[in-house]
Amino acid sequence: MRKQIVAANWKMNGSSELVHQLVPAVKESVASLDNAVEVVIMPPSLFVSGVKAELAGSPVAFGVQNVGRWKSGAYTGELSAGMAADVGCHYALVGHSERRQLFGETDEIVAEKVARVLESGLTVMLCVGEALEEREAGNAEAVVCRQVESALVGLDAAKAQYVVVAYEPVWAIGTGKTATADDAQTMHKALRARLSDMGLPANEMSLLYGGSVKPDNAGALFAQPDIDGGLIGGASLKADDFIEICR
Ligand code: PGA
Repeated sequence: MRKQIVAANWKMNGSSELVHQLVPAVKESVASLDNAVEVVIMPPSLFVSGVKAELAGSPVAFGVQNVGRWKSGAYTGELSAGMAADVGCHYALVGHSERRQLFGETDEIVAEKVARVLESGLTVMLCVGEALEEREAGNAEAVVCRQVESALVGLDAAKAQYVVVAYEPVWAIGTGKTATADDAQTMHKALRARLSDMGLPANEMSLLYGGSVKPDNAGALFAQPDIDGGLIGGASLKADDFIEICR
């Protein structure tokens, strides 16, 4: 059985106030969910300790949105995967398209970060996705498969249980445009086939969809056979919307 996951990516949003308002509301609602979804909150790193404190005694997991590509050392401003593990994080997001586009993260850097996360014992949530021009040129599947292959090349099959892949078409992130449930399913199926070709236990790996997931489209997306949940940006900042998506 694959895990169903709904993960919140707050991006560079939020405050101590949001932590103290939203996280207890999510904690309380998750306790009364009648599904087996694993809920994950990834706030800006400065708020991880506050989120952890609010979640005490709850099955809701938490993590960071990025890690450095090195283990430790003279890298001013960076945070390591080991530090995220040290403060109790369960997950680390790697390769989000905003990191790739705005911070110049190449496939090679993403692969290094995936390795750091797995070494530190966290689960990596690897983001992949094509840009609009790539989709229009008919290259979406090739781009996504290349991203996943280069990030996970040589991965030991036993480590696959610590890898979640989030397919996030770049043109759907924060734009209000969502891939149709059918298009997302087609990509997820292709992705799963590629993971299997790589010798990984693809049927046991959770593949999430991200990009303008909202309460009114989550049901149709998550009902697809190869979509195991979602990575939620904007809608994760409103307790009611996020809880509705989890439900
Ligand atoms: P969005 O962001 O839900 O605001 O589109 C998703 C993401 O970037 O992870």
